[in-house]
Amino acid sequence: MAGETTLFSKIIDGEIPCCEVAKGASWLAFLDINPRRPGHTLVVPHEAKMHLAELSPRQLSELWQGVVETQGILSSHFKTDDFSIGIHDGPISGQEVPHVHIHLIPRSQGDGGLSLLACWPDAPHPGTTEPDFIALNELASALREMGEENGG
Ligand code: AMP
Repeated sequence: MAGETTLFSKIIDGEIPCCEVAKGASWLAFLDINPRRPGHTLVVPHEAKMHLAELSPRQLSELWQGVVETQGILSSHFKTDDFSIGIHDGPISGQEVPHVHIHLIPRSQGDGGLSLLACWPDAPHPGTTEPDFIALNELASALREMGEENGG
């Protein structure tokens, strides 16, 4: 296994037990020990990198294939096609384990979960204010320029 040693790399290496759901050549899916609701699963690449952007295109591709494969299993078990899928991509966003992991949470009516928008409870709720298209266009333009500078 490449990269730093993290809690999740110890799980991947079998040094710490986990409740495995599925695995592929370069990823492992296991149940979160503090589930937000039943079926809350983490899909983790073998490579121990803090940020998604540090993974190679192949690792990213295989990881997302792992997400979809694991979704299929959870869909069949929990009888739902709907999921909340989230990544804390770095500590400021809430990442506790510095090793990329995708939270895969099956959703069903009335399960008590909220949406991503609930992460910013003080921001105006969509539909309650007019979109600020001037500011949005200025930012989008600056971001496209940045993309060109970055070689995109
Ligand atoms: P994050 O806040 O995105 O870094 O999420 C880390 C997640 O890892 C939390 O939801 C924890 O409940 C979960 N977790 C921590 N230790 C383990 C473990 N040994 N096995 C499974 N999940 C774990």
